[in-house]
Amino acid sequence: MWDLAPSIAAAAGSALLGLVSVVVGRTLLARRRHYVFSPADLSSADLTAEDLQGSEQRLAGGLAIPTISVSHDAPPPKKELLDYHKHLRESFPTVFNSPLVTVEIVNELSLLLTVHGSRSELRPYLLLSHMDVVPVNEERWNHPPFGGLIKDGFIIGRGAIDVKQTTHAILESLEHRLKTGDAPKRSLFVALGHDEEINGTRGAKEIGKLLGERGAQPLFIIDEGTAILDRFMPGVRSLVGVVGVCEKGYLSVEVTARGEAGHSSIPPPETAVGRLGHALARLHPNPQPLLLGRGPEMELIQLAGAVAKGPFRFVYANFWLFKGLIQKAFLKNRAMQATIQTSTAVTIIKGGYKENVVPGEATAVINHRVSPLMDRDAVIAVDRAAMRDPSLELKVLRESAPSPIAPYGEEDGPFGLIGATLQQMYGDEAMAVPGVMIANTDTRHYLELTDHVYRFNPIVLRPDQLGMYHGDNEMIAVDNYHHCVRFYYRLMKNSESDAAVAKMP
Ligand SMILES: [Zn+2]
Repeated sequence: MWDLAPSIAAAAGSALLGLVSVVVGRTLLARRRHYVFSPADLSSADLTAEDLQGSEQRLAGGLAIPTISVSHDAPPPKKELLDYHKHLRESFPTVFNSPLVTVEIVNELSLLLTVHGSRSELRPYLLLSHMDVVPVNEERWNHPPFGGLIKDGFIIGRGAIDVKQTTHAILESLEHRLKTGDAPKRSLFVALGHDEEINGTRGAKEIGKLLGERGAQPLFIIDEGTAILDRFMPGVRSLVGVVGVCEKGYLSVEVTARGEAGHSSIPPPETAVGRLGHALARLHPNPQPLLLGRGPEMELIQLAGAVAKGPFRFVYANFWLFKGLIQKAFLKNRAMQATIQTSTAVTIIKGGYKENVVPGEATAVINHRVSPLMDRDAVIAVDRAAMRDPSLELKVLRESAPSPIAPYGEEDGPFGLIGATLQQMYGDEAMAVPGVMIANTDTRHYLELTDHVYRFNPIVLRPDQLGMYHGDNEMIAVDNYHHCVRFYYRLMKNSESDAAVAKMP
């Protein structure tokens, strides 16, 4: 037996050596993305500081108008929305009066602009934004949320990042082009909904229907969505433009437990309330599956393996070995976790009506946001198995399926256009990677028009700034906003460059 130890050590040593060489090999193989367009192939046009003069004041003026969507049942803020239309018309007079632009008011308060390009044979594209904002809790703001204030390099107010900045940025770049006689070659639509924050059923839904009836087939759609993230993965210092290629679905399931009803002085051994409570308590220890590595986030991890610094590079480049570690990092942040799992939350629970009566029935509602990799039946099957009570009745209360996943391969034209535009602006290490949008956007009303539907907010955000969405003290740095305008300007110019026209006529 004594001579076995060295051979075990030798075997272990060679296995370890093999492992190390695979890890190193994989790390060396991990490479940056080269999109179908290299930045140099596209247009070199950019806006100067002088071109951008006054743009921050125009945005601040827009933020001063409280276009608040209060709730699904409340009427839209008509006066404020019309004031905002007026502000846009005054801020961008060339756009709103150009013979090349058809301006339509849809369902009273939404706007659809059709910009007629000089080369009508090219497929148009569609840019979306929305004009409404969510309510504020004014006491928690350090500055008035509707003061239109610019202070210490920041434009402050509700709507600064969600999402009046894209409405303004799109119109700024169009205004500049039309004013300087640089009329677009490729046609585009700009659709500005007025009720996105309450589902977009009055605004975006109507515009989507209208475009559908007209047979519009945009090459791609870009709506609000995930941002250009700065330092949000350990070891990754380059900017990562996370482009939402899909949206999670929505599923509310009502669970009903039944039992013997009667007087509380002689209760049955088991009650409906007790059974329901037991079942619900089993949901969280038995969650929906973690799907890390099977969705678009894999692309992000692979790319991080190409650009991360230090030991992180080995970790990302060797997902097969470090999956557990990477998964732990995802689970540390609830928003990251939500991108790799169907979420589960019990939101309503009801049972009983009188303190001395045992009710015969108790119900609860489980709200899920469904991963695009799962369907309704799979989610409900996990719930059922977790609750371990076949007598419970499950009923779907409300649902919308996850959106389809838009193309994002390296060879894809529209995705590559976004990636190459980011590289032009932020250098070769900047990336566009696909991501899962965990909230809903107006895009749901346009899914019939094209499969290239992207949710992307072209502003730079750090992880600690994500709380500004629907939160307090929403603001954007003037420079960040200027880059947002430049993104749309470059995207427009790039979309009609020779290379883009050849690939995407
Ligand atoms: Zn929004």
